[in-house]
Amino acid sequence: MVLQIEGHDFHYEMENLCRIFFPYEKIVTTKDLSLDASLLAYTGVFPQGNTVRLRARLRMDGQERTAEEAVPAAALRQEKECERRLAVLLFGLLQELCAYRPQWGILTGVRPIKLLRRLTEEMGRDAAASYFQNGLLVNGKKTEKSLETMRWEEEILASSRPDSFSLYLSIPFCPTRCAYCSFVSQSVVQAARLLPQYVARLCEEVAETGRLAASLGLRLESVYIGGGTPTTLSAEQLAQVMEAVRQNFDFSHCREFTVEAGRPDTINREKLEAILAHGGDRVSINPQTFNDEVLREIGRQHTAEQALEAFALARRTGVKNINMDLIVGLPKDTVESFRETMRQVLLLTPESVTVHTLSLKRSSRINQSGGRFDSSAAAADQMLDEADRSLSSAGYRPYYLYRQSRMVGNLENTGWSLPGKESAYNVFIMDETHTILACGAGAVTKAKEPGKDHLQRIFNFKFPYEYLSRFQEILDRKRQVKEFYEQFC
Ligand code: SF4
Repeated sequence: MVLQIEGHDFHYEMENLCRIFFPYEKIVTTKDLSLDASLLAYTGVFPQGNTVRLRARLRMDGQERTAEEAVPAAALRQEKECERRLAVLLFGLLQELCAYRPQWGILTGVRPIKLLRRLTEEMGRDAAASYFQNGLLVNGKKTEKSLETMRWEEEILASSRPDSFSLYLSIPFCPTRCAYCSFVSQSVVQAARLLPQYVARLCEEVAETGRLAASLGLRLESVYIGGGTPTTLSAEQLAQVMEAVRQNFDFSHCREFTVEAGRPDTINREKLEAILAHGGDRVSINPQTFNDEVLREIGRQHTAEQALEAFALARRTGVKNINMDLIVGLPKDTVESFRETMRQVLLLTPESVTVHTLSLKRSSRINQSGGRFDSSAAAADQMLDEADRSLSSAGYRPYYLYRQSRMVGNLENTGWSLPGKESAYNVFIMDETHTILACGAGAVTKAKEPGKDHLQRIFNFKFPYEYLSRFQEILDRKRQVKEFYEQFC
């Protein structure tokens, strides 16, 4: 697809908008108006005295449509407003020629709830909801869901203070790679020899980070060990990492310590006991689906039965707070089979359920055929409706929500929990409420200026072998957190 840009700099937004309709199409964004293609979108902005003329054009399947609007220049004083109106024009054409109406309208950002909260602070709840629907073309269903999610995360957000921070540890190893995964996770078969050294270095980084947090007088609110699949580590290695965390941080205000067990085939009693013995109080066990055929299709080497057994084992071992992750839109899954997955999950009564929509990054192994928006979107939408309906009726509440690029149907991921069982870490990371100190390969520390929106990201090396071979550089980079905070003290 060729996307032509004339007279403005909103190429990023226009490209994201086209990607909603053509998620797997290569988009060439250009200011060269002579570039031609059978699939072509164009947007232009032309100031003319007190008026600004906005123009969008779309050519596809041998048809061509143009839309124009003349707007008083005074109405476009804010650059964002010009971008929004141009996006609405192009959206209208895409919607007409693709015969498809994305539910989130022109909203392409990953944090709609954060945006809704900012709008609510600026203009009040009702006006913000109305702007979502009429300004950003988000449909009524998604606007309602956003309002409800905003409501349930408020209490958690209010508990964060300017000196708060959370801690994230990355274990970027998995037993095998799932077909839809684009995450840099190394299969254990390839990387087993790296694990002991990785654990040792990670503990060193944890110790250094603990000293840093103490020297800055920061207050630990939550800890999350994620991946990859942290339970790829042995029980001894898990204990070693968690002990390093306990030894180096002050837990007097910490309200949650999550370990993502992830793949049910990596869970055993010894690991669960190690997690509990070292203060882990929330575990995520992720079946993704209870349909064995779908599990095979996506390359997960466990069965639905194993997920049920892992859950029962976790309960027997004494885990009182369990999250389960599901995915809608998986290949070979159907609305009927997803309904059965939901039924099984609700029989278990986990404290929280996170419902993801399949997102297919270019580097995943599931191949995309055409570039056009595909029919699996309608099924994913029905599955999401099914999840929303059944979780609500079972007493769960949506408490965090986010979106990713290239999600099937351009839908969303939602964290649901029973009242009082919301994961604080999930809310903090998604809202960017406070600093996240992150350790391990691929981890990104986000230093947040107290009371402001300003964030500074400090990246660790992505791959375990780089993390190990350039470890001193990781420790050196961590010092930037101190320099960051010193600017404000
Ligand atoms: S378990 Fe998660 S991180 Fe690991 S391969 Fe599967 S999707 Fe990727």
